[in-house]
Amino acid sequence: MHEYGIAHDIYATARRAAIEHNAAAIQTIHVEIGELSMINPEQVSFLFSVIIEDDPLFQDTVLQTVVVPPKTTCSCGYTGSEIYVCPSCGALPEVIKGREILVSHIEIDTKDGEEA
Ligand SMILES: [Zn+2]
Repeated sequence: MHEYGIAHDIYATARRAAIEHNAAAIQTIHVEIGELSMINPEQVSFLFSVIIEDDPLFQDTVLQTVVVPPKTTCSCGYTGSEIYVCPSCGALPEVIKGREILVSHIEIDTKDGEEA
């Protein structure tokens, strides 16, 4: 299941960042899911909640997923969100954004109570 690997990657990324910043808890993880990634955000959220169940760092963690529309560019100079046909010249645009899953921001509680 592809979604499981993604949920686990998000978990691992957040965990690493939390440990690096000496965090006591992770509050919110913001994840951008490219529309073209064909990933189901609800399934990722569900699997994530299963993965974090026994990890005290993630006790009150909220996973915020945002679906990001594709961004394409064409050799004629077009940039936009058309992925099949360039509206200016009819060529196949190049997808530069929209396939990736990205942890964009993590909010944590540090042990001394300061925001990181
Ligand atoms: Zn074009």
